Amino acid sequence: MTEPEVVEDFFGVYLLYCLNPKYKGRTYIGYTREPNRRIMQHNRGTWAGGAYRTSNKGPWKMVLIVHGFPNNISALRFEWAWQNPTKTTRLQHLYLKKIPRQESEFQFKLRVLSEMLRVGPWCRLPLLIRWLEKEYFEEFPVTRKPPEHMKICYGPVKIKNLKKIDNVGYEDKSEECIICCRLIKSYQSKIKCLNQFCVLVCHISCLADRFLEPGEYIPIQGSCPLCDIKLKWGDLIRKIKGCSLDLNGDCGVTDETLSGNDEVIPSNVADEIDDEQPSWFLDCKEDL
Ligand SMILES: [Zn+2]
Ligand SMILES: [Zn+2]
Repeated sequence: MTEPEVVEDFFGVYLLYCLNPKYKGRTYIGYTREPNRRIMQHNRGTWAGGAYRTSNKGPWKMVLIVHGFPNNISALRFEWAWQNPTKTTRLQHLYLKKIPRQESEFQFKLRVLSEMLRVGPWCRLPLLIRWLEKEYFEEFPVTRKPPEHMKICYGPVKIKNLKKIDNVGYEDKSEECIICCRLIKSYQSKIKCLNQFCVLVCHISCLADRFLEPGEYIPIQGSCPLCDIKLKWGDLIRKIKGCSLDLNGDCGVTDETLSGNDEVIPSNVADEIDDEQPSWFLDCKEDL
């Protein structure tokens, strides 16, 4: 067994490969600061903090991890683009779609990765492409090699995270979604974390995508992708609707918090949400 390499201030985006015969060959892309803990969570299920999409489909192997991102936001954006190559402006022109019968899901994800590493802004980052499982290693095609300055390496990592909150260097572009990197067009489609020290600003739909269970219309809960606190969807929506919430307090909303907030959606603007937002946004207004 190779000694793990110690890496400080780790921000990684990983690729999981499913070993379960029923789902064999499925893949999953995720972001983590602690890959060793993260893979255990995926394999234990949602109760341990694993993602809904991977739960009960294990065992999963963390095959590959790309790291060396300057901060969590940069890594999250990489994750989103890797998951959504046709929606990402940087990759759209390549029309990256899986070729049926010619490539596996795994090979497709590697192909997307090889393209991502060659375009800006990622081609300028000092990234490391680490194969955690040697038997899954695949050489990048000669014409699709990552830039010279990126390192391809092998073997496990041991993480030594020095900074707890790592939004250093983040400029406040508050109208840009931290997850998908696109502009947040209307005021209503913006969502923020309930942790007052967290800088998460994103589209409601981008966060919902991360929280949603298959077959569900309304997310229930999930972890903030930046600060990792547990967030209940209802609390987030309540906040958008103009009710503030104290993290340390309970979820009760008083008249004072209702009237003292400037984030109430005017009814005329609320109508516009219909066009842009999926139905769950309106649905949950009734429930809460
Ligand atoms: Zn977004
Ligand atoms: Zn947060």
